[in-house]
Amino acid sequence: KVRVRFAPSPTGPLHLGGVRTALYDYLFAKNQGGEFVLRIEDTDTARYVEGAEDYIEEALEWCGIIADESPKKGGKFAPYRQSERRDIYDRYTEQILKTDYAYIAFDTAEELDIIRAEYEAKGDVFSYDNKTRNRLRNSIALSEEEVQKLLDEKTLYVVRFKMPIDRTLNLVDIIRGNSSVNTNTLDDKVLVKNDGMPTYHFANIIDDHEMEISHVIRGEEWLPSLGLHTLLYEAMGWQAPQFAHLSLILKPEGKGKLSKRDGDKFGFPVFPLNFTDPATGNVSKGYRESGYLPEAFINMVALLGWSPADDKEILSLDEMAKEFDLNKVHKAGARFSKEKSEWFNHQYIQKTSDEELLTILKNSDLDLNIEDEKLVKIIHLMKERATFPKDIYENGKFFFEAPTSYDEKASKKAWNDETSAVLGELVTNLEGTDFNAENLKQIVHDFAENKGLGMGKVMMPLRLALVGELKGPDVPDIMELLGKEETTSRISNAIN
Ligand code: GLU
Repeated sequence: KVRVRFAPSPTGPLHLGGVRTALYDYLFAKNQGGEFVLRIEDTDTARYVEGAEDYIEEALEWCGIIADESPKKGGKFAPYRQSERRDIYDRYTEQILKTDYAYIAFDTAEELDIIRAEYEAKGDVFSYDNKTRNRLRNSIALSEEEVQKLLDEKTLYVVRFKMPIDRTLNLVDIIRGNSSVNTNTLDDKVLVKNDGMPTYHFANIIDDHEMEISHVIRGEEWLPSLGLHTLLYEAMGWQAPQFAHLSLILKPEGKGKLSKRDGDKFGFPVFPLNFTDPATGNVSKGYRESGYLPEAFINMVALLGWSPADDKEILSLDEMAKEFDLNKVHKAGARFSKEKSEWFNHQYIQKTSDEELLTILKNSDLDLNIEDEKLVKIIHLMKERATFPKDIYENGKFFFEAPTSYDEKASKKAWNDETSAVLGELVTNLEGTDFNAENLKQIVHDFAENKGLGMGKVMMPLRLALVGELKGPDVPDIMELLGKEETTSRISNAIN
């Protein structure tokens, strides 16, 4: 049975890379008819950020990435918060200490600093590994009695992994293929801290085993840990899951990893939702609050590193799940593009019904002083040019308020000495007419023809009078929506 987990640490808001990992975890699980699990890895209390877990859950929900099992939802393997699984870790700490893969170490941070300084003074780099472990205060270097004495005295200790000497490990990754690493390049990582809490590495493999995770799909920053994790499974006598490490998301110019700070630099959000830093009170803008539709956002994120068949670009979450294939995930980093994400949003605005857009606009803080029936028509006319829902309002402001001034350049182009008289006469032709776009188009057309004027000579000043600039949808459409009274009043204002 395929079971995939997303295992964020609540050390801050989810960013684009995190969303993509969660999305690929989800898509792969769904593609395989499996389950998607959300597990919160909060054993590192020093890096814990208040509110981060709620943020992660809310963001995933907004994206539509819904977990089958999670801290809130519960499930067969609850609890799904590592801080609540201490008794499970304690059991396995005991187990690994009985093997030759782990040992107790008493050295304090200060002692380690002194040793490190010694090495550095000689121009060597200190690493807690098989070349140094015998020189330190741990159960390898000390006699059994000494160890027992320290334990009896309740001396603080950590549990470390005992990295085997000179073994070549074969590492298998679904996306990257095979690679190997020699254990002499790896160190004796801490598995359990002196407060009894496991570190990421130990808790992670225990939970993946306990929760029957079949595939670990995660960011490439965890690739250097794969050797250790592989050996931890061996130490525990467990079958390891399959691994896939996702490449980085790169800056728009393609060089280097997209960082949280790049949002400000390049003017696009890097977080799904607004995030208020509890330490500074600074608010980072999210995709949701910037006017992105969640469907557009995840579609954009999904294609940062995966190409569906036929290079299709617009896919719903279900369609993506149907097509998702880890073998088609790119090995190279994916470059983020602000223009492309806006393009996706534009596409999804077109797919969104006028009524849904009405709901979105009415839930925003825009001042919409027009009845719904008219608003829907405005939306219908304006959405074609909109990247964000608010563009409909901003580009269609003239529907909501009459122009108070006329664009100077446009006036020069559209207006001459006769214009006022021409438009004045047109107004009289509008009396008693049926005010629908088709009819109005005909009237203006006939009027221009009778006067021996080109259509533009009438339409342009008319547009200027109604809009204030030479922008917007077709003039007859604008006239219909404004209605007879407002149209004639705007023309009168312009010609007087
Ligand atoms: N807690 C780790 C993180 O925050 C999870 C890494 C993994 O998926 O193994 O990224």
